[in-house]
Amino acid sequence: MPIAILPDVDEQRCIGCALCVEICTALGPDVLRVKPVEGWKRGKAFVFYPERCISDGACLGVCPTHAIFWMRPLEYTAGQPVPLHKNGVFDKGWEEG
Ligand code: SF4
Repeated sequence: MPIAILPDVDEQRCIGCALCVEICTALGPDVLRVKPVEGWKRGKAFVFYPERCISDGACLGVCPTHAIFWMRPLEYTAGQPVPLHKNGVFDKGWEEG
């Protein structure tokens, strides 16, 4: 199973602007997507293709609400959601700077 340092998105902070998706797609890796969330018309960003991430931090740099965190090196399975929350609490990340 591959191991990587990956970004993740704090849904409480994400406003669904998709700037992270746009920069990541424009630079090539194309890791992020915005998913619909009930009660939130713009959706929320999430890591959709963890195996494509090159850990360049571009998404962290563009997020206006500092919703994106680096995650400690972790195992992931391509095509599967990355389990970053425990009991509904975001507990494995740290903020840039
Ligand atoms: S840039 Fe930040 S606020 Fe905008 S969609 Fe991405 S995570 Fe959400």
